[in-house]
Amino acid sequence: MTNIPPLDLKRQYQAIGADVSAAVLEVLASGAYIGGSVVQSFEQQFANYVGTTDCIGCNSGTDALYLALRAMKIGAGDEVITTPFTFIATAETISEVGATPVFVDIDPTTYNLDLQQLAAAITPRTKAVMPVHLFGNPLDMTELMSIATQHNIIVIEDCAQATGAKWNGKQVGSIGHFGCFSFFPTKNLGACGDGGAVTVNDAALAADLRMYREHGSRQRYYHEAIGVNSRLDAIQAAVLQVKLQHLDTWNQQRSVVAARYQKLLANVPNIITPQPTPGGESVWNQYTIRVVAPEGVDAASHRDAVRAKLMEAGVISMIYYPLPLHLQAVYQHLNLPNGSYPVTEIVSNQVLSLPMFPEITPEEQQRVVYALKDAIL
Ligand SMILES: *Cc1c(COP(=O)(O)O)cnc(C)c1O
Repeated sequence: MTNIPPLDLKRQYQAIGADVSAAVLEVLASGAYIGGSVVQSFEQQFANYVGTTDCIGCNSGTDALYLALRAMKIGAGDEVITTPFTFIATAETISEVGATPVFVDIDPTTYNLDLQQLAAAITPRTKAVMPVHLFGNPLDMTELMSIATQHNIIVIEDCAQATGAKWNGKQVGSIGHFGCFSFFPTKNLGACGDGGAVTVNDAALAADLRMYREHGSRQRYYHEAIGVNSRLDAIQAAVLQVKLQHLDTWNQQRSVVAARYQKLLANVPNIITPQPTPGGESVWNQYTIRVVAPEGVDAASHRDAVRAKLMEAGVISMIYYPLPLHLQAVYQHLNLPNGSYPVTEIVSNQVLSLPMFPEITPEEQQRVVYALKDAIL
């Protein structure tokens, strides 16, 4: 029996590869590889999709976060609040601009920032909050915006895992001041390489983001700030233009896959299945369960053993994320020892992401579930 991968981009390519290849060949023949009409038209299409006035393409989701921070002139002496249960890029960009990441623990059911603890973490130095719509599941943006408005802080949404997700009927990335997207191949809208974008509803901010993206320059060879070179390649824009047309269908298929898992796993003991935020529409970048260890057994070792047994059965699962950010070597200087964020610490020792992609078949899902039951019982 063949392995069931966490995701299978080859199946996607089999379905739409001819269109993707044609679009790439057109760019190759055009001779315009940096900027140009393909990048511009993708930016406009993506802004339309998200529901913002502007979209600024860039080199990665990481750069999208970085550019948003730069556009707000956030730097040394400033604090930015975020979650410790996310990919390193979220906090890394805060550090990169010279600001300090301030972590707030996660909600035990959604694994997103715990909004009940947010206000208490805001200080006179807090300039922004960077929520993550983790695993594709949107955060309660109504509550977040109300806290942010009350304290006059900027909201930079990390939408890397949530392209197409909605809160209260509105696309994520259109509600905060900035929406930051990643087009890394494993994201819901993935390029064939790196890529990212920032969405905003403010022409002046859009112009500033473009300035920082292009070496701090508004007019070529005239530089007003230290910027970066972070452009979206024309080839990637062409790929994304083709794929954007399929995004809603793929996200719909992901939600069918998630519903099937929910049903198959409903009565399985010793696991906790995902619970999407009420009022949100998740796009299921991951289907992440928690494996609960028997009394007296170390949580992470138990989870790792379950993962190993799944592997033996040909089911490849993933751990997002095994070590919370406050416990990473790079953040030792923040002095946030084990115990600082108890919910994050418990959850990170239990999480296991099952194979999730639009093309996974019901038979494969059945195999995943049989293997999981075998592994945990
Ligand atoms: C993938 C990801 C990023 C970074 O995106 P890249 O395009 O890989 O730079 C940032 N935040 C989160 C939550 C992510 O999952």
